[in-house]
Amino acid sequence: MVYKSRYSFPIPAKSLPSFVFDSPTADLPKTPAFISAQNPEKHSLSIHQCRLYAQRLASGLQRSGLQPGDRVLVFSGNTLFFPSVVFGVIMAGGVFTGANPSYVARELAYQLTDSGARYLICAEASLETGLAAAKEAGLGADSIFIFDDGIATFQGRTVEKETPKGKIRHWTSLLESEDKGQAFRWAELKTDEELSRTVTLNYSSGTTGVAKGVMISHRNYVANAMQMMHISTLEPNYHTTLPSKRYLCFLPMYHAMAQSVFCVNAMVLRVPVYMMPKFDFLEMLQNIQKHRITDLTLVPPVVVAMAKHPATRKFDLSSIQRVGSGAAPLGAEVCRAFESLWSDGRVNVKQGWGMTELTCAATAFHPAERSDSFSVGELVANCEAKLVLDDEGKIEAPKGERGEVWVRGPNVMQGYWKKKAATDETLTKDGWLKTGDIAYVDEKNNFFIVDRKKELIKVKGLQVAPAELEGLLLEHPDVQDAAVIGVPTNDGEELPRAYIVPQSADKATTEAAEAIKKWLAERVSRAKRLEGGVHFIEVIPKNPSGKILRKALREKAALEKTKAKL
Ligand code: AMP
Repeated sequence: MVYKSRYSFPIPAKSLPSFVFDSPTADLPKTPAFISAQNPEKHSLSIHQCRLYAQRLASGLQRSGLQPGDRVLVFSGNTLFFPSVVFGVIMAGGVFTGANPSYVARELAYQLTDSGARYLICAEASLETGLAAAKEAGLGADSIFIFDDGIATFQGRTVEKETPKGKIRHWTSLLESEDKGQAFRWAELKTDEELSRTVTLNYSSGTTGVAKGVMISHRNYVANAMQMMHISTLEPNYHTTLPSKRYLCFLPMYHAMAQSVFCVNAMVLRVPVYMMPKFDFLEMLQNIQKHRITDLTLVPPVVVAMAKHPATRKFDLSSIQRVGSGAAPLGAEVCRAFESLWSDGRVNVKQGWGMTELTCAATAFHPAERSDSFSVGELVANCEAKLVLDDEGKIEAPKGERGEVWVRGPNVMQGYWKKKAATDETLTKDGWLKTGDIAYVDEKNNFFIVDRKKELIKVKGLQVAPAELEGLLLEHPDVQDAAVIGVPTNDGEELPRAYIVPQSADKATTEAAEAIKKWLAERVSRAKRLEGGVHFIEVIPKNPSGKILRKALREKAALEKTKAKL
């Protein structure tokens, strides 16, 4: 059967900038919208300023020759100016793509090349990596701009660097004057074709293979913002509590989740966002206390850490009213342990589920109902889903039974950037997105994500694509064949583990395993390290067409774990 959301409404035919800022000249609040959690008195931006910086950047990008559809890659942790850059690129008609700030040069070079980025806006602290990646991708010094942590920009300092590659300018050199910024008009879009234009390429490996640029359009963003915000409006006393809400953002803005919640939705709702450059557990707790944060958007490892770490109880968390979690599975037990931090039973963890390919979210838990399970809630408005048992989607799981979730709705991506075969494999002709997640649905139409059919591994909420690690491992001289799977930890998380066929049997030693682990760690960002171990195996199980049978390896890992416990 096809499950349909019980809500539906028309999606405004607006471009993303018009949806968020209304128009280039509309009166916008001048109260702080993005606030430095560290230095709130000195460093903040209102929505009015955010739009103005975006307009100045958009005008400057056009002056510098940015053509419609050109990609601009941002390689940085969160700064107060991050949303302005996202919107500036989009207002200029460009396409924003953000890279994980912990990437090594090889990973960044891949995204620069794959997206064909025209410009790289690179965090000052990561310039070395940025330059190495730019070299590999063939990007010249005049295409690279330094993005500071916001402080230099506030102080009007324009950091520049002489490098062997040439002079690297500060991102503010792209900004037009305030007058010109105010005069800048972004294109007003109305037709289906215009609203389907890509505005961001967020990278995701999807159900198989390496990371791919997910094409998200104006309409996708507007629709998903409406869908997510609508669920919030079902909260009792929503309209009276809205003016006192305060968000804290430590999730990375290059990823769909923080981009949607903090760059788009928060501005539309006029909820101030206290920004942290990156996640730090104790600083997060301090900031909740200091800024009287009301709503938390978390990922499972943070929920687990808060539930378990003794430091949590040393902070005043009494301002918290609502807690959401997404991006990876989270068990019911840990949710209840987390909730016991508040003795009055006020806090109930509401999970949502989504994917980069779904803009951000496709399900959310009803805010007026109490969650006592690990359900990710019901379908958001205008979305439909079915649970299928075969690759063609012809056989559907009987009610209450498990199947792969296929989703259709206005938040489904346009496709993968320049990857037609992967797009055709993932999107059906009649608009269904094959998510690769396995779920069942209960009698209240709440979804429960129970497994993954796809290869993807999630480490601390970050994507790890086995295909990328396998490709690298095959470059190692002692590796004949390799397969990577996620193995569960006792905390309900996952870690990447490699099964390796050595070039010769004498290479299957503990030392060799450690050496391979170390070798890989030098080539990838932290989340991709083989912390789940390197195990030797005689042959990688594969089907007749050479596809790795990951399920068999997962079963092997489970068996090994059980044996180790005995
Ligand atoms: P991403 O595209 O990085 O957001 O990753 C999307 C994937 O994360 C989904 O396809 C799921 O496998 C997983 N995921 C996201 N949210 C949840 C959730 N609430 N519970 C279980 N898995 C989730």
